[in-house]
This record gives sequence, structure tokens and C-alpha cells, in this order.
Amino acid sequence: MTTRLGRDKLFYAFQPGLKPAARIQLGEEIIFETHDCFQGQIKTDKDLVATLDWDRTNPATGPVYIEGAQPGHILRLEVLDVEVEDHSVMVTIPGEGALGDRITDMETTILHREGDELVFKDRVRIPMGPMIGVIGIAPAKGSISNGMPGYHGGNLDCTLIGKGSRLYLTVQVEGGLLGVGDLHAAMGDGEIVVVGAEVPGVVHLKPELVDMPALPTPFLENDELVATIHSDPDLDIAVDGAIHNMSEFLTRFVKLSVNDASMLMSAAGSLKICQVVDPAKTARFEFPKRILSQLGYSMPE
Ligand code: CA
Ligand code: CA
Repeated sequence: MTTRLGRDKLFYAFQPGLKPAARIQLGEEIIFETHDCFQGQIKTDKDLVATLDWDRTNPATGPVYIEGAQPGHILRLEVLDVEVEDHSVMVTIPGEGALGDRITDMETTILHREGDELVFKDRVRIPMGPMIGVIGIAPAKGSISNGMPGYHGGNLDCTLIGKGSRLYLTVQVEGGLLGVGDLHAAMGDGEIVVVGAEVPGVVHLKPELVDMPALPTPFLENDELVATIHSDPDLDIAVDGAIHNMSEFLTRFVKLSVNDASMLMSAAGSLKICQVVDPAKTARFEFPKRILSQLGYSMPE
């Protein structure tokens, strides 16, 4: 059975006690229709962020209660597909983002899709790379705004979270309470102006539990690589967390010595930045699967 959730089922902060919008079984496909991060408030290049109701931004569709998901379980979210609409929005906001000191004018630009590209101001074509900005589950306690990334997932803004990827999170409350939103038709690592190509769309996910106790999460895999993801207001700490979590994975699960893991990470792994513009910054450490397979290790099917 497939459950489809409309974009009217939304929330703005991950927290325990959210009322589930749907209940699904493990292994069952779930489809989320999502708003863009502005909840559709920006429709043309005349609509500037000055007119935004900020209380209606970063909505996530959900939450979804996953039957059988219990605290401590490792939840694997397989991204079966990410479909995005044809028009996406980018903005500049003076004072915001990594170049906020140089940006003096508020601007909105609508990018239009042509084939597998986005057309920027009729001059530049950008390859599409549909991805999910916000994907997470409720924390054990407290309330975490959808604008915030963290251990629970949330606003990770990681370019790898697209079709064919699998994101692993540690369940913290019964049922997980999964939510998804903030799709990007394209985004570069760093998301330096505060937005990607913001777009409404539809996400197809399959949640499952995997027997990988104490996997350092958030953890991601795709056909090519595995990656650890860590967020912190201090980018140095985010970087350090991603590196240490990969070392933990390679020693605990792949059974490498600390020295071998360190040397192989240094020779063949890649430290990357997901984003530097959210309230906490997000780093990831990527390690190639072709090396894992030489070591006789493969991720669970
Ligand atoms: Ca985001
Ligand atoms: Ca976004």
C-alpha cells in the first residue's frame, strides 16, 4: 500500500507529541507533496522576501508515524524519487547568508526548467539536481524548528539527499514522526546565499529499520559512497563531528584499526560542507564504497 500526504498536512518544528498526519508500515512507500520553503508565498520576481510571513516558511509535510519504529532503532529512509515542479525561486537578502555583507538589494528570481536544466535570467543554464533540504524525525524532547539541522536530521541541506540515496537516522520517539520539505531543484555545496533553487515537489520514500546498532547518524549512502553528517553552530565542531563519526563507522562496522581508518580517510575520503547559512552549519565526510568493497564490507541490502 502507498500512502500519499498532501501539502496541507504540515508542521514547522520537529517535536515529540506532534499529532501524526498518517500512520504507515515499515517497508511501505510513502509519498509527500511538499511546498517550497516559502510555502508558495513567492510567485513572481515582484514578490520580495520583505513581504513574507516568516511564520509560514520552511514547512515540512507530515508528520508520519512509522509503526514499529522505537527509540534507538536505526531508521533507513530510501529516497525512491524526488520530483520537482518547473519553476523555482531564488532570493537575495541583505545581511543574510555568507555574502550578506556585500548584498545590498533584495531580489527575487524565478528559474524555469528546460529539460534537465534550469534557466537563470535567460542567460545561464544550470544542471538540475533535485534534492531534499529538510528531512527528519522528532527529537526525544524539546522542539526543533524546521530551519535547524541536527542529530534528528531536519534542515541538513545536503546535496546528496536525492533520488537513490538512503538516509539513516536514530529513532528518538515512538513512530519516529517523519517530516519532509524544502526541496531544491539545484543547490551547490554551502548554499551560500541562503537558498537553493527553492521548489515545490513530491518525494517518494521507503522507511525501513536496519540492524546497525549505534550507527553514527545522520548517515547517508548512495551508489558511490557513504557519508557521515554532523551539524553545529560552530563549523569547526561540525567538521570534527563528521570526521569522528566516519572514523567510528570504519572502526566499529568495517573493523579497521584507528590508524588504517585514519590513513584511508586521508587518502581517499573527502570532507565537504553541506551548508554554512542555517542556525547550525552542516559538514559531511564522504568515503568511497569501492574501498569498502575491497575491505569486504557492504551496507545491508
Ligand atoms: Ca534548507
Ligand atoms: Ca531551501
